Amino acid sequence: MVKSSLNTLSAYKPGKPLEEVRRELGLKKITKLASNENPFGTSKSVTRILNEGATSLSYYPDGAGRILRENIAAFHGVSTDKILLGSGLDDVIQIISRAVLEPGDNIIEAAPTFSQYSLHATIEGAETIRIPVNEATGKSDLTAMASAVNTRTKIIWLCNPNNPTGTISSQQEVLTLLESVPNDVLIISDEAYFEYATSAEYPDTFALLDRFPNLIIMRTFSKIYGLAGLRIGYAIIPDPLIEPLNIVRLPFNTSSIAQSAATAALSDQAFVEKCIDANTKGLQQWYDFLDERSLTYYKSDANFIFFDTKHDATELFNQLLQKGYIVRAGLRPNWLRITIGSASENRACIQALASILDTK
Ligand SMILES: *Cc1c(COP(=O)(O)O)cnc(C)c1O
Repeated sequence: MVKSSLNTLSAYKPGKPLEEVRRELGLKKITKLASNENPFGTSKSVTRILNEGATSLSYYPDGAGRILRENIAAFHGVSTDKILLGSGLDDVIQIISRAVLEPGDNIIEAAPTFSQYSLHATIEGAETIRIPVNEATGKSDLTAMASAVNTRTKIIWLCNPNNPTGTISSQQEVLTLLESVPNDVLIISDEAYFEYATSAEYPDTFALLDRFPNLIIMRTFSKIYGLAGLRIGYAIIPDPLIEPLNIVRLPFNTSSIAQSAATAALSDQAFVEKCIDANTKGLQQWYDFLDERSLTYYKSDANFIFFDTKHDATELFNQLLQKGYIVRAGLRPNWLRITIGSASENRACIQALASILDTK
């Protein structure tokens, strides 16, 4: 009854609601460090808007999201027409995949990377070509990704910083990639964690837009802006793709509340700066701990740390859960990905992990 591409897939299993986990385990408090959300919430300018926003809920949102798109366009210095809004980047990934991929096509991605690229490729009947990251550095291998391109390649997904490794590709690496693939292959730079990237080599992809009509940039309000619950993100789209993507996009895919909250969030860059600063310090807490224990990790340009625990990660996941910490296992045997929380959350989670490791 269903299309055959779905046969190999299973539905996303969301984690249990936090409150339920807390009650089941009889814990006073539970700290979620599993999905790279912002431990500091969102900007005060957002909460102010939300308190005022409930008056016009009986009307459909502005399907075009005009005000938010104008603000995003001004923020980046690009044309408003090029901004595509999505109900989170998950939606944008689905829209692009649906509009571009046909059975027999393929996409290229790093391994490991964000799971949604391949999921939507598979649904559309396309293949996924996975290029392992460099084992020692965790870096995506853009040279190998470029070499893997064939006549059926439609998209190269470049997650930068990459989730879950936290590593980045440099301006030079991205430029070389763009120069070495045919321009009918889309290069999609997923910059969900871009704000957290502090390495000097982190690329300015906006500077490349004019030269490369096959470059798409994606940003989200879910991570540093702290609006994961409202579902809103966007992409900068090359002109010829705007109309086809808008055919696929649901007419009211972003809510009026999400649009106004995102507009308010964008206006408070001081909040963003504060979060970047706290994240850099939080990463250092983890580096100090991991160095002390001689555990292998990748230097992170994101708000999470991916490291080799030298033990079974699923077991550690469960033991951390018993102590009230939800982290992410299952991405690579023995490795955990943990979101950088507030200083006290980091300290407490590190302490919990240390006490578990000491019993091994
Ligand atoms: C979290 C994440 C996204 C999706 O975020 P949305 O909440 O759907 O905007 C996209 N890409 C990467 C790499 C992510 O980690």
